Amino acid sequence: MKHETAKSAALFERAEHVIPGGVNSPVRAFKAVGGTPRFITSATGAWLRDADGNDYIDLIGSWGPMIMGHSRPEVVAAVQEAAVKGFSFGTPSTGEVELAEEIVARVEPVDQVRLVSSGTEATMSAIRLARGYTGRAKIVKFAGCYHGHVDALLAQAGSGLATFSLPDTPGVTGAQASDTIVVDYNDAAGLETVFAEHGDEIACVITEASPGNMGVVPPRDGFTNTIRRLTRAHGALMISDEVMTGFRVSAAGWYGYEAESLGYPEGPADLFTFGKVMGGGFPAAAFGGRADVMEHLAPTGPVYQAGTLSGNPVATAAGLTTLKLTTELDVYSHISRAADILRPAVASALEAEGVAHTIQSANSMFSVFFTDHEVINYDDARTQNVERYSAFFNAMLDAGIHMPPSAFEAWFLSYAHTDEILDRIISALPAAAKAAASVPNTQGN
Ligand SMILES: *Cc1c(COP(=O)(O)O)cnc(C)c1O
Repeated sequence: MKHETAKSAALFERAEHVIPGGVNSPVRAFKAVGGTPRFITSATGAWLRDADGNDYIDLIGSWGPMIMGHSRPEVVAAVQEAAVKGFSFGTPSTGEVELAEEIVARVEPVDQVRLVSSGTEATMSAIRLARGYTGRAKIVKFAGCYHGHVDALLAQAGSGLATFSLPDTPGVTGAQASDTIVVDYNDAAGLETVFAEHGDEIACVITEASPGNMGVVPPRDGFTNTIRRLTRAHGALMISDEVMTGFRVSAAGWYGYEAESLGYPEGPADLFTFGKVMGGGFPAAAFGGRADVMEHLAPTGPVYQAGTLSGNPVATAAGLTTLKLTTELDVYSHISRAADILRPAVASALEAEGVAHTIQSANSMFSVFFTDHEVINYDDARTQNVERYSAFFNAMLDAGIHMPPSAFEAWFLSYAHTDEILDRIISALPAAAKAAASVPNTQGN
């Protein structure tokens, strides 16, 4: 069924006059999938309602934060209670202590956290801290890992064996990119080489704890431990970016999952970054880690970092209540079970139509690549047939299921994705698989 979209279309047209591309974050514009972005006016549980009054089952979850589903009553109540007491004080406040304590209690290697307002701010600040702590300039990141729109992290590998990088977007200078070294994810030998050449200049390696921003590409063969071993051996810090995975893939994020399943013989990362789930849909994020590193931050140390709205009382109330609910209601096993139901259903719908696909998981977080082989890095991820994803996406949307409007994203489940919701998603899959199959099987873009 095609939805009536006149009101969304009119809003988009208005938006395009006053907001570049009509959106405040590029992926929302539907450029990768075509069609009219839906302007959402309200959301409850697993459902989104758009300006034309259409309802969709949500598989974006605001790109991760809405792990309890939308408008969860306890979170609404906590936000209301906080809001009537004042919106922002610019002083220390109770909620920020409670949220920091909750994070520190969950993620064992994190002794202290500093609260900020976005994941971008968290990674930017963690990198400044690593540079300030080590007195070194260079940083290492992995191709396809996204850490927000930090200048130095919007870098791409230079040609061939060059270890200096190039800006990934106009507006980032050569100087900002040139201290960033980009390595393929899961490439232990490449990382060894970089450390052999530049080991004493490297302040830190930043990695997504388990990448989810090129689709889900988990670390292979103890890659996390390899990063840890090399950073420690060369006096560099390791920053594990858990903005997406944190408090989503387990109560202690990817750290908790990997510590339990694989162990950390080399020890955990020095610094962690968090966002998304910990704000419960409000702007709250954090970076944290070893106390001796964190104490290099002002006012105890020399590394400057600040924020007018950092630790905002309404945001911390939403975040803390969301985190408490995840453990009280055992949201992690709910989501694992939902993923265990959905993954094989997607696979069998695509198999029935002969659509090549690979489903990859970071514990309960998964994504579907329209490619026939394992994806271990960004080059592999880009072999997927994005036209097939667009056809699949649009067929799902027509059936009332709002997937992420990009092939390079996880499918975000929540506590509100009940069996009844999953059944609705599953019943939309055969037609979407057929739509994908109607696109020629030419891989790569
Ligand atoms: C979303 C994300 C960020 C950026 O967070 P924002 O709040 O959008 O700035 C950073 N790192 C990872 C791993 C993310 O998924």
